[in-house]
Amino acid sequence: MNATPAKNVDAAAIVGHFIDGQDVADDNRPLPVTNPATGQVTRHVAMAARTTVEDAIAAAEAAFPAWRNTPPVKRAKVMFRFKQLLEEHADEIVEAITREHGKVFDDAMGEFGRGVEVVDYACGIPELLKGEHARNVGPGIDSWSEFQPLGVVAGITPFNFPAMVPMWMFPMAIACGNTFVLKPSEKDPSAPLLIAKLFKEAGLPDGVYNVVNGDKEAVDTLLHDPRVQAVSFVGSTPIAEYIYSEGTKHGKRVQALGGAKNHAVIMPDADLDNAVSALMGAAYGSCGERCMAISVAVCVGDETADTVVDKLRTELSDLKVGDGMDTSNHMGPLVTREHHAKVRGYVDLGIEEGADLVVDGRDLVVDGREEGFFLGGCLFDRVTPDMRIYNEEIFGPVLCVVRAESQEHAMQLINDHEYGNGTCIFTRDGEAARYFTDNIQVGMVGVNVPLPVPVAIHSFGGWKRSLFGDLFAYGPDSIRFYTRRKTITQRWPKGGVREKAQFSFPSSS
Ligand code: NAD
Repeated sequence: MNATPAKNVDAAAIVGHFIDGQDVADDNRPLPVTNPATGQVTRHVAMAARTTVEDAIAAAEAAFPAWRNTPPVKRAKVMFRFKQLLEEHADEIVEAITREHGKVFDDAMGEFGRGVEVVDYACGIPELLKGEHARNVGPGIDSWSEFQPLGVVAGITPFNFPAMVPMWMFPMAIACGNTFVLKPSEKDPSAPLLIAKLFKEAGLPDGVYNVVNGDKEAVDTLLHDPRVQAVSFVGSTPIAEYIYSEGTKHGKRVQALGGAKNHAVIMPDADLDNAVSALMGAAYGSCGERCMAISVAVCVGDETADTVVDKLRTELSDLKVGDGMDTSNHMGPLVTREHHAKVRGYVDLGIEEGADLVVDGRDLVVDGREEGFFLGGCLFDRVTPDMRIYNEEIFGPVLCVVRAESQEHAMQLINDHEYGNGTCIFTRDGEAARYFTDNIQVGMVGVNVPLPVPVAIHSFGGWKRSLFGDLFAYGPDSIRFYTRRKTITQRWPKGGVREKAQFSFPSSS
């Protein structure tokens, strides 16, 4: 958020906003958007002023009464058409992701597909909103709970999944009958706008879904405006904590998903070839810029560690790094020059802290892409819990191997860590796996599955400082988050019969 506003930018080349079903041009404080593979600035994006965000909130508020009263089956029809349009336009959206985020095209397609799965789930909204009914809870008394929408809901999303993470939020919020204002990441703003236009084309009424680009000013406007009822946030932990405290202080329902340091435990009995393949994808895929990336491999026993480190070293020599538009590459660049410098700085720090840098990707240069923000895969061995490279989220292609004496020791490390987003155990032993899943203090757990990202029919979220709030994203929790329960108790007394006043507390006995 600290990029310097550009001067003398052609106003027509500035990405604006999508408010009340219309493109809104804006040249307020434009920030550069870079293609990280080439290092070239490709466009600029406006940073919405408070009044622009208020326009979006006003549009969402005005659209709410009609959308709330639109039968869920009609909302589902819009969702079906939206899903179809997303699939038809997948290549265009995915290319925008690769050109602004840097991730390899196929990986971006994977992210996009996982987002579309949430739209798929939202198509079932008539069933999901059915509510709960009980007949004869007392004499002639029926009662039921229904789930009513909240009103205007806001979403604030990170750079690393510019399509999927917004789709964790707005499809379910809107299917539930709310209207929505999204503030996506300023680093890769194109995909969210393309998606918003398809939603309109699918028949969504104007004002139901709005996108404002911006920075802290836009976010604070959403957090402080009394018309916004709830806020979903995904991003780094310090900002998640801020969003949670500021949003709740202003009376909003907030779910704020934060950062991570995901450990994989490799047991001595694991299929080590397959565990190493899994680690390669989970640590270096998307250049390590995933909140579920495995950034720590905890090897149980020195023999396991020696074998895993040797195999990783060999695999890393074949890691193909380059422009994400070339799908033969495994890994693209880091998102920005600043982030590249930060991740590189962590590799320098790891050496200073005394970890053993087994594979050094710092000097990688990609032919023909010399200005791109590339870093080769880096591997540290003998990392210890007192090191900053162990404790802090690096968010780059840097895997730390920690040596543990036992499963218990490995699990203690994980349970003591401040983050609790994802984790995984590689083993052939069912008892060890069950002990792990029962006792690990983490929200999403894999057994021989390195990236246990829940599918759309479940919900996504971490524990400890990886989530502020009570409810996870998408899946069943999203119905709870984006609606308010109302319980109605009803009775139709017989006409003409005078009933005595009851002074004791009503009971069914
Ligand atoms: P970030 O926290 O810098 O930004 C997230 C959003 O907050 C962006 O829209 C940004 O514009 C806004 N923002 C940034 N600084 C702000 C401030 N001071 N005040 C108000 N708003 C501000 O995160 P990022 O770098 O875009 O994304 C990477 C982070 O997101 C990593 O920490 C990663 O682990 C996390 N993440 C978590 C999950 C999860 O599900 N837990 C998923 C994806 C990413």
